[in-house]
This record gives sequence, structure tokens and C-alpha cells, in this order.
Amino acid sequence: MRLVPRRSRTWILVLLLLLVLAGALSYLLWRQSVPDVRVTAAPRRFVGQKTPLTFLIEAARGNVARAEVRVVQGDQPVVVVKREEPLGPRAEIAVTLEPAAVGLREGEATIEVWARDDFWRPLPARQRAAASYPVTIDLTPPTLDVVASTRYLAPGGAALVVVRAGDAARAETRVGALAFPTFPLGAPGTRVGFFALPYDYASGTPITVTAEDEAGNSTSRGISAEVLPRRFRRERIEIKDAFLQAKIPELLPQHPASRPLLDAFLVINREQRRQAEAEKRRLAVKTAERPLWEGPFLQPRNTKVFSNFAETRTYVYAGRDVDTQVHFGYDLASTRQAPVPAANSGTVVFTGPLTIYGNTIILDHGLGLMTLYGHLSTIAVNVGDHVAKGQEIGRTGTTGLAIGDHLHYEVLVHGVSVTPLEWWDAKWIRDRISEPLAAAGLSPIGSADSRDRAPRPAAVPAPRPGPRRTR
Ligand SMILES: [Zn+2]
Repeated sequence: MRLVPRRSRTWILVLLLLLVLAGALSYLLWRQSVPDVRVTAAPRRFVGQKTPLTFLIEAARGNVARAEVRVVQGDQPVVVVKREEPLGPRAEIAVTLEPAAVGLREGEATIEVWARDDFWRPLPARQRAAASYPVTIDLTPPTLDVVASTRYLAPGGAALVVVRAGDAARAETRVGALAFPTFPLGAPGTRVGFFALPYDYASGTPITVTAEDEAGNSTSRGISAEVLPRRFRRERIEIKDAFLQAKIPELLPQHPASRPLLDAFLVINREQRRQAEAEKRRLAVKTAERPLWEGPFLQPRNTKVFSNFAETRTYVYAGRDVDTQVHFGYDLASTRQAPVPAANSGTVVFTGPLTIYGNTIILDHGLGLMTLYGHLSTIAVNVGDHVAKGQEIGRTGTTGLAIGDHLHYEVLVHGVSVTPLEWWDAKWIRDRISEPLAAAGLSPIGSADSRDRAPRPAAVPAPRPGPRRTR
């Protein structure tokens, strides 16, 4: 019995064979079509004396089998990294390129990443770089001269530096771990910056300017200055339960009523203080790259000083010393809900509650100079508003960690608090800011003494008059 005729059987065999062939062919085609490795890198236009490079190499299938980074200049490729061991499906290749050490010169070059996976393909992949990046090799550090700077500095005080930095993308003044940017002003290459010595500046900490170009080459110069001593007061402040009961609902509402009041106070006084400091530093980057202020800063009329800059305060609770913190501003009081004038012209960069400072306004005066107004009852301006010197921006109050109605006032240099005394003082501004500018051949900024219509600042800090008002 024949189920299928012989001729048909042959056809079926041929058909099966064709199917197998077609299957094999499409499998091979798929193998061939699987993409090779993919390379990603942070874009970089310039390579300097010492430049870190990082590449991420990923295999679509299989593993990265080998990787090589070459720098090609002319027709001479220089291999700077070669990895031949199995690298897994994703490999990060990091290298610090030092062009001079491997015989590269200044000028145009191409960084090439050569990499392969271990995925089998019927035809070998074409020999070409998986990625290539054109770069400019620049081995010349910027030129840098300190043209002028404030001669006399003091802890908790501000200063100015003028530099001439050729071919620099940025330049900053460094005081220990603190960095203060400079900004272009006047002729090309001329840069100006404010910097501050923190209240706890340790004598001998180097004060330097560092200029850096696009390629990361840098040049540093010391700033010669005389640091005058400055002493700050120490205070003891007694914390009472009634004060904490009044303040905790505002500052730490999540604090359970069953837990000790002191626990909440310590969170507020330590953690919230730190948060406010971090916010001041964050806001510093919003500064205008030109001066917005003019003449001495205003102290609100008829205010008495109840607390000074950089007082170290020991907090006493139930007869025990429970905490120590530093007070970064001046506490100024007159009448309740007294008008608060903008100390100088500028732009509003912050409004709203700021932990221990309560309702707060921060004004930017440009080049990193800002003023802060805390414990306000009302705020009359919005972020982005331009304000004129003397314009009412809000009213004093008791928000935040304040008992009596007063203004907590601070001056910040790139987020670092300095004494407001200097900026209330026309002579200080002339000697310490305008003079170095004039020495550098620049017109004075913010020192239009003749145009200044500001009332004279109130008397210097009175030695502890009246009752203690503040925290
Ligand atoms: Zn205060």
C-alpha cells in the first residue's frame, strides 16, 4: 500500500531541506545583525595635563571581550588602556590621560575606543573604532596674576581680590576648604571676587587663588594679606519650657507630646541650624555676576543691637549645659512689627520659612554678596523681585527660634556669614573694597559714597543693653 506517491515524497524532502536551509540562513543573518558593543562617555572637548576619562562599554549580547582606548594624533595611534580579559556585559574603563607622558603634543587629536564582544557572528565585524571623539589637547596652564586684594583681613570678615587670568574658564579664591568664585569684570581676563574668612579661621590657613582652563589645567597664587585678630563674645542662654512649648509646634510639629521637650529643642537647634546653613550655601550659586549694590548697607533706623555676629552660645536647660552653637548675625530690635528695609539694592532670591530663622528673606547684591532677614512677621516681596535700597521688604516678628520681636540680620559672602559691621561702614568699604579695585585700575563698585543718601548707621553695637530678646 502506498500512502504517498514517490514523486511527492521527493518534493517533501526538498521542501524540508529548503525549510532547514532557510531557518539556518535566517539564524545566521540574525547572528550577523546583532549590534556590536555600544560606547558612552561624558562629552569632553579639551584634554589637559592630567585628564580623567571614563567610558562605559556595553554588549548587546554576550560579554565585552576586549577594550582599548587610543589617542590618534597625525597617523600615530597611542594606546593608553588595553584590556583583554573578559569584562562582563558592561565594562567601565577609566584612565587618567597624561598626554606629555605618552608623547602627545598640544593640538587636535581623536580619542578612539576599540572594543569587541564575544558574541559569535558568521562574518567577522569590520575593523573600526566603536566610538571616536575629537578633542583639543591643551597642556598650557592659564596665566594668573593677583593684581590687587584687600590688605587687612579678619576672621568673620570679607575681602576682595582682583586677578588677571589669561585663558581661564574659572578662577576661585580658596580659604582652607572654602571656595569663592570670581567673575569677569572690566577688561577681558580681569576677574573680581569677594571672599570671606570664616569666624573660626585658623591662623596660617592658606589663602590662594586658583585659575582653571577648559582642559582642567590650573595655576595657583597665594594672596598676601595681614590677618588681624578679632574676638567674639561667649554667651549663656537659658532655655525655658514655656519657650519650647510655644516654639515646637511651629518648628517641629511632628514631635510627639509624650517625648521630652529638650529632645525637640536639640533637633531644632542642631539639625535645623545645619539645614539653614546648607540652604545659604545652595542659594549662593544664584548670585548675579555683576554688582547690584551701591554705597554702604543700611541698618534699620532706631534699632538696638541685642546680639552680635559669631557669638558662641551655650544653652542651659534645667541647670545643665545642653548645647553650644554660633550665632551668625546681628539681632536688631526697635518696635514690634517694625518695617524692615532692604539693606541695599538687589534681587530677592529666597522668601519663606527657613528653619530656626522663621520667615526669611534673602537678597542677592551680586558677586556672591547677599543679606538675610529672619524672624519676620510678614514678607512683602517675591523671589525675582528687584528691590531698591531702603525699600520696605517685610516686618519684624518672632517666627523661628526667636522670643522677642526683632530682626535677625546677616551678611553672606557666597553663603558664608560675615560680620555686617563692615558693610555698614562707608570707610571700611572704601579702604577694603574700593581701594584694591582702584589699584587694579577698575572703577569702584558699590562705593558711590557721594551718591549715597543712606542715613548714617545707628551707633555701633551697644554692650548688651536691655533684656535679652533672642535665641
Ligand atoms: Zn539672631
